Amino acid sequence: MLYEKLAQLYKSLSSTTKRLEKTEILSEFLKETPKEESEIIHLIQGNIYPDYDQRKLGISEQLAIKSISKSFGTTPEKVTQEWKKVGDIGEVAKNLCKTKKQTTLFGSISLTTTKVLDNLQKIPELIGNGTESHKLGIITELLIYAKPIEAKFITRTLIGDMRIGVQESTIKHAILKAFFEGNKDYEPIIQRAIDRTNDLSKIFQISKDEKIEELEKIKLEVGSPIRAMLAAKVSSVEEALKQMGSPLAAEYKYDGFRMLIHKKEGEVTLFTRSLENVTKQFPEIEEYVKEFVKGDSFILDAETIGYDKITKEYTDFQAISQRIRRKHKIEEVMNKLPVELAVFDILFYNGESQIEKPFKERTELVRKIITPHPFKIIPSHMIISSDAEEIKRFYKKALADNQEGLMLKTLDAEYNPGRRVGQMVKLKPEDRDLDLVIIGGEWGTGKRSGWISSYTLACKKDDKYLAVGKVGTGISEKEESGKLTLEQLTNLLKPLIKKEDGKDIEIEPKIIVSVTYQDLQKSTTYKSGYALRFPRITNLREDKPLSEIATQKEIEKAFVGQRVKGIKFG
Ligand code: AMP
Repeated sequence: MLYEKLAQLYKSLSSTTKRLEKTEILSEFLKETPKEESEIIHLIQGNIYPDYDQRKLGISEQLAIKSISKSFGTTPEKVTQEWKKVGDIGEVAKNLCKTKKQTTLFGSISLTTTKVLDNLQKIPELIGNGTESHKLGIITELLIYAKPIEAKFITRTLIGDMRIGVQESTIKHAILKAFFEGNKDYEPIIQRAIDRTNDLSKIFQISKDEKIEELEKIKLEVGSPIRAMLAAKVSSVEEALKQMGSPLAAEYKYDGFRMLIHKKEGEVTLFTRSLENVTKQFPEIEEYVKEFVKGDSFILDAETIGYDKITKEYTDFQAISQRIRRKHKIEEVMNKLPVELAVFDILFYNGESQIEKPFKERTELVRKIITPHPFKIIPSHMIISSDAEEIKRFYKKALADNQEGLMLKTLDAEYNPGRRVGQMVKLKPEDRDLDLVIIGGEWGTGKRSGWISSYTLACKKDDKYLAVGKVGTGISEKEESGKLTLEQLTNLLKPLIKKEDGKDIEIEPKIIVSVTYQDLQKSTTYKSGYALRFPRITNLREDKPLSEIATQKEIEKAFVGQRVKGIKFG
């Protein structure tokens, strides 16, 4: 397909905010897209591979600027200046491309989607010396042949900011409309197929034949990058019992990070909840799984928790979070920050998917195949009960054990990957915390100059990020054990800066932090309609994907909740 056709699609998609219109536009486009070109779906998602794939473009802002200046015969300074003025680097590329095209003869060659993908897919493979100039070559080759509208969207793809408002659900509905006449009964079938593959291009390819049975046949496999099931919140044991029925399984809600463990043909692979492969970082877990879990092939859902080597008390997430990133001198950090694996679910076992089975059966299987070795690997701490008082005692025990609270689970529920369902809820004493994404900031002054020292936080509404306030506390100025420093956070945010205006910075939403706050108030200043009062950053959540940050609805619920409890707000 000509890349121009895809660029026109991006343009039409961004011209409307209405979901139905977007679905309609996309469904027409998918009808015309050949089956063999299913990878176009990645491009529509702003990617070059499926979402879970580790091979990302990872183009720095500087490189994007350099590529544009080189391709269109101008200086990086001019591109930066224009970007600041216009606020969209895609638009800058388009404008520069227009001027350039009037003076050269390029443009006679037409770019295809295959050519664009081929070039972009080479980028993550590059390592070692000369990588930067190699990348530059690959990008400029595309830009010099691009038409203005193509330059705009190639550039947006490079920096991962498509601005077309297409989410996974939009693509799902477009597929349903294009190939199954919008038959609502088929929607859960498509959703299940997505859950099992996490690859919309595959779903598109199969759907092209208009045979729903083929989608039904898709099975979970070891190695499939399955997403973790998410939990809704409750504020009391009674609320959970009322909402979910009884008896319930009550488990510790561990203050660690989630790990999905795949074993196949003797090999163990560890993924975080954002489907990042962390096997190298946790060699001891790989060994525990090989030694103490029976079975030839399986997928386990578990939490990795830190503990103090001497006192054997559990520590919090922050204490071990650096282990996710640490890729060298693993032995050293392994001894200093030991971890235990608490397994709470199983999704696949010896050739058979378990996700359709009730939780009770799955948890029994977990207990059957694991030989518990405390401080190495254990099945989760769990009781099954209908008795509110007994569950409350267990809740206290979890808190005394330094854990976050409880997870309450319905015994007969299936596993629903990637969705927040009412069959698993979390109960925590301090409701006043949220995972939010940083979308802006301010350069510090005085002692804090050179650092980004105030951060604008946002929640999510569909595919939009809406501000809920600013935070400047919780991050240390100096290195303290395990604490996030201003310097670290600044370094993480710098490559994501989109626009600067004096001290103010606009940042691409990527870095997620956990934030506690005193209360919420209504606000006309922030787009979410709410403002956090006295917020404080408690953690960096590198393990969480953007899809799991707090939604505007959750914030609204928290606001209503604090009102009900009679807490004063501003
Ligand atoms: P939250 O991140 O607060 O929405 O809570 C969901 C997270 O709790 C999951 O992604 C897990 O990492 C974690 N978790 C801790 N203990 C459990 C448990 N027993 N069952 C399920 N999830 C758990």
